[in-house]
Amino acid sequence: QVFNKGFSSPPSLEALSYAFTRSSHAAKNKLEGKVALITGAASGIGKATATKFINHGAKVVIADIQHQLGQETANELGPDATFISCDVTKESDVSNAVDFAISKHNQLDIMYNNAGVACKSPNSIVDLDLAVFDRVMNINVRGVMAGVKHASRVMIPRRSGTILCTASITGLMGGLAQHTYSVSKFAVVGIVKSHAAELCKHGIRINCISPFAMPTPFVMDEMSRMYPDADDEKLVEIVYRAGTLAGANCEPNDIANAALYLASDDAKYVSGHNLVVDGGFTSFKNLMFPAPG
Ligand code: NAD
Repeated sequence: QVFNKGFSSPPSLEALSYAFTRSSHAAKNKLEGKVALITGAASGIGKATATKFINHGAKVVIADIQHQLGQETANELGPDATFISCDVTKESDVSNAVDFAISKHNQLDIMYNNAGVACKSPNSIVDLDLAVFDRVMNINVRGVMAGVKHASRVMIPRRSGTILCTASITGLMGGLAQHTYSVSKFAVVGIVKSHAAELCKHGIRINCISPFAMPTPFVMDEMSRMYPDADDEKLVEIVYRAGTLAGANCEPNDIANAALYLASDDAKYVSGHNLVVDGGFTSFKNLMFPAPG
């Protein structure tokens, strides 16, 4: 009965099989024909996202300050990945990276401002070194602004494109990291909301992702400073134990999945959003349901 609606006869098996193949192809190739530029993609979250985007049909430009590692990552990811050396604190580097993506692929559909650093500074505001503050803000905030600016420069005339940024749960509530890092991530959420207001009228979406902690190089670096006597295995265990969702740990691939969603047409009406990937950590303070044992 349902099949007959609007048809004189039910669809053939061939037609059904074609429709199924097309929809499963679309599910597996959500970024077919798209071009993405990802900063900080030599390792960690950026690399996992580059891998995911390529697996979904995109061409990816990996922009990172680590020249050798970035080149190795691009080689590892194959012909759909290209590396460009880029220090996000230099506006000309960010501008060049955007122009490189356009000259190589004729378009830029996705700009992911992901590069960021932790701050090796004392915890108390009384001991704050403002030179460290300036350095971290330069990368984590000014670098993101430069990415948004230059992506918008090429996306606005085309009236299409999507911009992503990596914020953090430390930009949602205080007390989860040193002030400087936390403040820088609050600013990233602000960048997204402020620019969503302007970019929406050009059909451009901008969103951010706020991950929970995971043991990527920058976190391991920070943790080994906090726990100088612990080996790597112990540090990874400490990071994972901080999570609240039983049976799962936060991993770069979880953030790559969030980025894929936000970058694809699945999120075609989502803009100005902060997608929190934290297993519920920032949603509650658990007084009612203490952990077993
Ligand atoms: P990572 O150390 O694996 O990757 C960071 C990358 O950024 C590195 O490849 C590094 O070379 C690059 N980078 C640093 N400074 C740069 C600069 N000036 N210009 C260009 N590239 C630069 O760490 P990650 O965890 O994958 O970090 C990615 C993002 O995720 C960062 O913005 C970080 O703040 C954020 N984040 C990480 C966590 C976590 O627990 N790992 C949690 C929340 C948010």
